[in-house]
Amino acid sequence: MTFEVEQYLPDALLERIRGRAADVDRDNAFPHDDLDDLRAAGYLSILVPADRGGSGLSLAQASQLQQRLATASPATALAVNMHLVWTGVAKVLRDRGIDDLAFVQTGAAAGEIFAFGISEAGNDLVLFGSDTDAAPRADGSYAFTGTKIFTSLAPVWTQLGLHGLDTASPDGPRMVYGFVPRSDAVLTRDDWDTVGMRGTQSRTTELHGAVAPADRVVRRIAPGPSPDPIVFGIFSVFEILLASVYTGVARRALDLAVEAARSRRSKRTGAAYSQDADIRWRIADIVLAYDALGPQLAALADDVDAQTDHGGRWFSLLSGLKHRATTTAKRIVDEAILVAGGSAYFADHELGRLYRDVLAGLFHPSDPESAHAAAATAWLGPLEN
Ligand SMILES: Cc1cc2nc3c(=O)[nH]c(=O)nc-3n(C[C@H](O)[C@H](O)[C@H](O)COP(=O)(O)OP(=O)(O)OC[C@H]3O[C@@H](n4cnc5c(N)ncnc54)[C@H](O)[C@@H]3O)c2cc1C
Repeated sequence: MTFEVEQYLPDALLERIRGRAADVDRDNAFPHDDLDDLRAAGYLSILVPADRGGSGLSLAQASQLQQRLATASPATALAVNMHLVWTGVAKVLRDRGIDDLAFVQTGAAAGEIFAFGISEAGNDLVLFGSDTDAAPRADGSYAFTGTKIFTSLAPVWTQLGLHGLDTASPDGPRMVYGFVPRSDAVLTRDDWDTVGMRGTQSRTTELHGAVAPADRVVRRIAPGPSPDPIVFGIFSVFEILLASVYTGVARRALDLAVEAARSRRSKRTGAAYSQDADIRWRIADIVLAYDALGPQLAALADDVDAQTDHGGRWFSLLSGLKHRATTTAKRIVDEAILVAGGSAYFADHELGRLYRDVLAGLFHPSDPESAHAAAATAWLGPLEN
């Protein structure tokens, strides 16, 4: 069957989401209406296989859709991204014969919203360590105590996928990955007031012994770099879908720059700025940068879908993709702003909003330091002590 992005994200839906984005940003609100519309359109289960009630799309197809969604509202796309990451991890594992996250797939198809509770203050080990305590209980469940930061979808999630460190078990320490339902043991602070990506409402989450039932404890692995499929699953799907969101931001900035170049007129020459040699060069520069993003996303997403084995190169390939997409998107928004001129400096101008939103791309893992470290290690070998 041919894949058409319009089938999953029709133009009318996209325009509704675009029409709300400025209000969501100004009000620092969660885009509940966007989520309702996306849920009704089946968007939350695009990566769930058909035999479990979803659309059965590939990661490459989801990447195209997330690029498209981000052109309408970067914050909505980034928030939904976190849910799509878990459904994508479930798919990557199942494709490789590990069906530990089947409940994520059936849950997403039934309307559950999965949030991504990985980030912790100052934890630059990210997946390889955690300051959250994962306390084993007699029935195989785990109680998680700690603080997660930047939990997108904070007002709406029903299941939080997270990690913590089990130091109590005889085979410990072990990194434990599990899913806790929303309960009294989870406290969400109302502390999201950022310069951009305001609609993600990525608030701080306090865990006070929040319990992941035994059948929701999906993995126990040694801390540190690990070949475990859950690490590859999270890393690959996260980096690819995240890069997709910021590539969509870049695309929107390009479209707005073209619009501005056509509509602004020079008093000096009387001609539209689209006829100005310097502005043409700027637009061309954006196009030359933007055109590289889609193909690299498609190629790596296809490789994950096809289970191509890049061995130890995977990490630098994926972190490099995320790094290039987010830094290029930032540069493209900068250029687009210069094309649009001073009006873009107003807080309610869409390019002004994209300028604030695109900044967030630099902070997500893999940050520039770890992307460079992975690339250097891939080509020079590890640092010698
Ligand atoms: C828009 C957006 C959405 C995101 N959504 C998610 C999500 O859904 N799930 C998720 O897991 N992550 C999410 N992230 C988190 C992101 O991926 C990074 O983990 C986050 O940006 C922190 O980056 P950092 O390591 O540079 O920050 P850090 O340097 O770790 O700083 C983050 C916070 O921790 C404090 N801090 C830093 N060091 C310490 C310390 N030693 N002791 C105490 N406090 C300290 C800082 O003051 C700051 O408030 C999101 C980020 C953004 C920008």
